[in-house]
Amino acid sequence: MLSGGRGPAIRVRPDNRAAILLLMHVPNERDVWVLHGPAVAERPVVLDSPHSGWHMPADFGSVRTAAELRDGEDCFIDELYAPASASGVPLLAAQFPRTYLDPNRHAGDVDLELLAGAWPHEHVPSGKARIGKSLIWRTLDDGRPIYDRRLSVAEVLHRIEHYHRPYHRQLRALLDAAHARHGVVFHINCHSMNAVSGTMGEGGAGIARADIVLGDRDGTTCAPAFTSFVRDFLAARGYEVKVNDPFKGVELVRAYADPAAGRHSLQLEVNKRLYMDNTSLTRTEGYARLQQALMELIAAIGERKEGSAR
Ligand SMILES: [Zn+2]
Repeated sequence: MLSGGRGPAIRVRPDNRAAILLLMHVPNERDVWVLHGPAVAERPVVLDSPHSGWHMPADFGSVRTAAELRDGEDCFIDELYAPASASGVPLLAAQFPRTYLDPNRHAGDVDLELLAGAWPHEHVPSGKARIGKSLIWRTLDDGRPIYDRRLSVAEVLHRIEHYHRPYHRQLRALLDAAHARHGVVFHINCHSMNAVSGTMGEGGAGIARADIVLGDRDGTTCAPAFTSFVRDFLAARGYEVKVNDPFKGVELVRAYADPAAGRHSLQLEVNKRLYMDNTSLTRTEGYARLQQALMELIAAIGERKEGSAR
């Protein structure tokens, strides 16, 4: 699976922006997201993997190669969690790369420095533009620029309309369906992180990450008891688990969470060194062990009763 998508990026000179407009088209749904498992969760658990996609849209117009644009990818995360779908737990997986558009940002989190014109819509800055990682990334993790041009407002709107909106719409539908059926839903927003932070990493460069980092935006996106349950479950299997340090969770755990109404969202970051070689982008021996621990975790979450989340 990882052998694909490594061709050269389509390069468009700044004086040839018309080429971008010609390449912009409505993508096939399967190039935007894939759903593993049922649309109505058989257990009160919904998973989403927003950063494991690597299908490069033709209108990317980056100066980087496709391999370089996989820099921000949470490699294998969709495959790692996919077995959960066999037990009736839906897994939504984005197919486009995070460097093209990050669905884990508010649609209004536009990097104004990257824009060729004035932004005509609501601007909702998260502060991530500072590290080049707002809705549309400006730089790779090592600080190299992704474009040699500014993006037109039409290009940014195209990405929001055809990638951000459909992904969010589908996640919302899965969460609503699970909540309607079970009266409660536990949403795990699935990610992975580099073993050591890069130049543009959260908290600065050269910081070694824990095995697992849970993010509930300082206790606001799920019941604190749910975060504790996940932390204790993974710690009991020998993993070093941190909470909200340094990743607190961003838009996907914020957008649809309402703990008081039984809608719990938790971000779960696993360290890439637990399951893959970050140079060859291949799985390592640790993959199977991590997958088993995560599947046991999801089964245990699925058996929780609503009251126990409080
Ligand atoms: Zn991620």
